[in-house]
Amino acid sequence: MGVENTLGNNVIVTSLDKVVNWSRSRSMWPMTFGLACCAIEMMAAGAARFDLDRLGVLFRASPRQADLIIIAGTVTKKMLPVIKTVYEQMPEPRYVIAMGACACSGGIFDSYSVVQGIDEELPVDVYVPGCPPRPEGLIYGLNKLQEKIMKERNSFGAAIGIGERISPA
Ligand code: SF4
Repeated sequence: MGVENTLGNNVIVTSLDKVVNWSRSRSMWPMTFGLACCAIEMMAAGAARFDLDRLGVLFRASPRQADLIIIAGTVTKKMLPVIKTVYEQMPEPRYVIAMGACACSGGIFDSYSVVQGIDEELPVDVYVPGCPPRPEGLIYGLNKLQEKIMKERNSFGAAIGIGERISPA
């Protein structure tokens, strides 16, 4: 009983890059890390109602095990060195989502103490606008990041030390 021959007489042809991209994009592990009110929406996205686990998105408590950092909240200049240290501890390839108006552009805090957009310091892959964005907005941003990862080239080569991974613009 059960499925004895999944593919029948067919074969699947793909590339190693696509396999690597598919596995990376379907198992994004973000840092457990939040800065302000947007982080509450991020937590809601991970909780039972929106259930990010079903997308393969599992929050990790160590940057060593994370390949995504969601900058969720106001980035103060005092906090910036901590954020950069956490980011630098994450292994390659690593991705950044700027969640909310504050992370994208400083939001309403046009002040001496607030960084006017985390993209001044980290390479942001996806921006999720809003104040705050709802969990659906973050999930849409994660979907966009999945699409972006699927367009990367030489993922397998870079993984075995041949050449660089090429990200879409
Ligand atoms: S964007 Fe709005 S909700 Fe998000 S951290 Fe800034 S003030 Fe708070």
